[in-house]
Amino acid sequence: MSVLPTTLPAGLPPEPDDATIALLRAELAEQHPELRVIGTEAMADLNRLSRDFFAYSPVLEPLLQGQRAQLVAAASCVEQVMAVAAACARHGVPLTCRGAGTGNYGQCVPLCGGVVLDLVGLNRLRHHDPATGVITVEAGALMGDLERQLAPSGRTLRLVPSTVRSASIGGFIAGGAGGIGSLRWGFLRDPGNLLGLEVVTVEPVPRLLQLDALGSEPLNHAYGCNGILTALRLPTCEAVDWVQLVAGFGDWDAALTAAQALGRSALELNSLCLLESDVALAMPWPAGCSGPMGEHRLLLLAAPAALEVLPELITRLGGQLLWSQPQSQSRGIALRELGWNHTTLHWRANHDGWTYLQLLLPHPEGPCLAELRRRWGAALVWHLEGVRHQGAPRLACLPLVRWQGVGQLAQLIDDCRSLGAFLFNPHVLSVEDGGLGVIDADQVAAKAAHDPAGLLNPGKLRGWLER
Ligand code: FAD
Repeated sequence: MSVLPTTLPAGLPPEPDDATIALLRAELAEQHPELRVIGTEAMADLNRLSRDFFAYSPVLEPLLQGQRAQLVAAASCVEQVMAVAAACARHGVPLTCRGAGTGNYGQCVPLCGGVVLDLVGLNRLRHHDPATGVITVEAGALMGDLERQLAPSGRTLRLVPSTVRSASIGGFIAGGAGGIGSLRWGFLRDPGNLLGLEVVTVEPVPRLLQLDALGSEPLNHAYGCNGILTALRLPTCEAVDWVQLVAGFGDWDAALTAAQALGRSALELNSLCLLESDVALAMPWPAGCSGPMGEHRLLLLAAPAALEVLPELITRLGGQLLWSQPQSQSRGIALRELGWNHTTLHWRANHDGWTYLQLLLPHPEGPCLAELRRRWGAALVWHLEGVRHQGAPRLACLPLVRWQGVGQLAQLIDDCRSLGAFLFNPHVLSVEDGGLGVIDADQVAAKAAHDPAGLLNPGKLRGWLER
């Protein structure tokens, strides 16, 4: 059976005592009076800045509910980050980085108190090379702000999560995986999506490192366990005013075939999302797009040129084009805020007692999906996303799952795996268990080099605890 956590990981360092935190705070105040620091005098803020969206997981919720930082430091420049890193290293205090706190697995929740370092104030676009489109941006920049800053030059980010408006670029690289754009550009860890990092080490005298693409790999999706990211070098792509399209299908198999066919086509698509009829009914729709009447819905972001082919192709595939509108003219909610984990968000807003899974379906997808539908019936409802995986078009899947207890969830996970699906488990705490399941020696080596006392986000890198 699959292992879902029932306790926090063993081997966590003890929570620092109040006197140590008070001393650390006093030192920071003396050296950097302009650094904003929040302590127990503002408990509501401490609680808020110690949380993310882990409540989507009924497995993680009871484990993380009461976890809280003892101090939050909100840095707005690299010198302040270095000062916080130095103070934590000197006093042996755990240090957990935080972007916008929109992660889903408690990635930025401190498991043994200490300091939360809030980085959203570190948010300048430092450099944009007009010849290559490569940008150097500080880690706390919100992706929506970045999109706006890049727009006048006709460039944009390759990949964004559906939380693009609220999440930070550093948090996306450290804690995210992919999202809108994954149909073209794959996942964040695919070579080429991250070109370099500026990193602060956690040592009594912290170092400021400049890592190239290869050197950055172990820090990409490591939950901030092996270095504090202060800036990122990223490629951008040409900005397109994507046309939002909604197509309806009466038949699920036809809708699935259409999703597969469009993913393989030469049409320029930036995202492709298939919602089963019940899921479609639970979504808010952009202004002007009528609500569903029981049909399954395929949501596309397509380049304007694709419109010469798409409407007829959709009809040929057994669907009907219901609505289209350029994203730039969108009113109300945009289509890109209906996919990825926003589908889960909207579903949970009006369905109590539901959670979700994240799968990469085996190719071809049909047999695995059909068998899961047969075994689990109404306990699963379906939401698929088109992605590129190792260069090939594939379907990922974030099914909504009726919560029937840990045992049933573990059984479902086993069923998915035995049918050939690859699981990105959103109900676990460690980097490894949420991903490939195996320890990445390079991630552990980077932690040893950048955080020798093991203070960064303790408990989230299993390879460090088990070394
Ligand atoms: P946080 O949640 O603050 O942090 C994430 C992790 O990064 C933590 O481990 C934190 O310690 C670490 N971290 C943050 N900043 C730094 C730094 N400067 N240095 C080192 N470590 C750092 N994710 C996707 O990948 N794709 C999606 O489409 C997607 N959709 C979502 C939809 C909803 C409704 C929700 C709630 C979440 C979704 N997510 C998605 C998860 C999350 O929103 C993204 O991964 C987001 O990019 C995280 O950014 P953040 O700034 O909120 O990071």
